[in-house]
Amino acid sequence: MADLPSSRPYVVVGAGIHGLSTAYHLAKELRDRGLGSGRDIVVLEKSEPGAGASGIACGVVRNNYYQPAMSELMQACVEVWESDPAAYAYNPVGYMALGPAVQESDLVEVYERQERIGYSSTLVTGEAEVDRYMKELFPDWRAQGVTVCLHEHQGGFAFNRESVLGLVGKCRSEDVEILTGVEVTGLEFGPDDAVTAVETNQGRIAVGEQLVIAPGPWAQRFWELLGLPPTIDIRTPSGEVVRDRPMWTYWNLQEGEIQVDPQMFALADGGAPPVIHLDSDAPLHTDEGKPVTDELWGIYFKRDRRGVQGGASPLVVDGDLHGARLEPRLQNDRRGARGREGARRRALEPALSLPLRALLHGRPAPSLPFPVSVELANTLGRR
Ligand SMILES: Cc1cc2nc3c(=O)[nH]c(=O)nc-3n(C[C@H](O)[C@H](O)[C@H](O)COP(=O)(O)OP(=O)(O)OC[C@H]3O[C@@H](n4cnc5c(N)ncnc54)[C@H](O)[C@@H]3O)c2cc1C
Repeated sequence: MADLPSSRPYVVVGAGIHGLSTAYHLAKELRDRGLGSGRDIVVLEKSEPGAGASGIACGVVRNNYYQPAMSELMQACVEVWESDPAAYAYNPVGYMALGPAVQESDLVEVYERQERIGYSSTLVTGEAEVDRYMKELFPDWRAQGVTVCLHEHQGGFAFNRESVLGLVGKCRSEDVEILTGVEVTGLEFGPDDAVTAVETNQGRIAVGEQLVIAPGPWAQRFWELLGLPPTIDIRTPSGEVVRDRPMWTYWNLQEGEIQVDPQMFALADGGAPPVIHLDSDAPLHTDEGKPVTDELWGIYFKRDRRGVQGGASPLVVDGDLHGARLEPRLQNDRRGARGREGARRRALEPALSLPLRALLHGRPAPSLPFPVSVELANTLGRR
């Protein structure tokens, strides 16, 4: 049993990258401003640090997002990674996005925003030009139909678990308390609707100043505890408002690692390669010439420690997931979900990667792009 404090000025829920980073930076700010210290903060984690998405993420650090506000936000994030590469297990190898003509205008827009804020990148357009640029880096490059390349010279990737542990160390160095095995199960509200306390599986903690909710893919639960609506109206870029979209949808991201000598994946000069994300509308064949798909497809890969890691288009997890239990886990983890044996699992529907899907349908993806591997061990069969 964790030794639960009866109250704390700042309570953070979730010891993933968001909860830990918030706790650490808050502790520093309190100290620097003479307003307190890390002792004013407690992080509550139902399992262990990195038990959620942060512990299984691919770890790519990039500044390629379509929402304009993300460019500056990601620039600030990249500066955090760059501030202590050793502690965050950060590899500043850069990131490349390559795509077909249908993606050109988006990548040009992203590049122009990067230029405006001084984020270091190179844009190459035109099929022959992109081919030439890529062959200089990788002489065996042979992707077809790629007409745009955005090469971010900043960014790269981090080793996920080590990054989380790096943040745990930073939190502890600021005297932030991290309590594991403590699950927040409810919230208490004051007359002004502010949260005044959290209920946990081990007791109650009064919240003096602020509650930070960083539960990753379990956000839906807190959304409900806060009494927020299950649907949302979305304004599309054309101004059309799509009403009553489900607030939460889930995607299953397919990832894996090929156990080859990582040095096989290297730049022409032998240097460490950037992370590569390639989308293409060229028909995809196996080396034996068998067709894989003639629709838009996408893949990314990065050098890992014992191989090359890659991933493909996520799968939509179909159906009403209200009350579903989430189990982020590695794709090759065959141990199965914790919980009820033989629980019914929902079918997974193949889907395009989010940017491609949005482009095809001319509107944003149906919900937040929130890649998560899920194992559903639920109740759905009983509803
Ligand atoms: C397979 C995969 C690949 C990804 N690849 C990338 C990538 O390459 N680059 C990138 O930028 N992003 C990537 N992401 C997304 C990224 O991992 C997430 O955005 C990020 O890790 C979310 O961090 P978080 O702290 O918000 O959530 P999490 O890491 O999920 O942490 C939430 C924590 O809250 C705890 N918690 C939940 N509910 C409670 C409760 N009631 N009480 C107490 N504790 C609770 C959980 O146990 C968990 O530890 C990827 C995600 C996945 C799943």
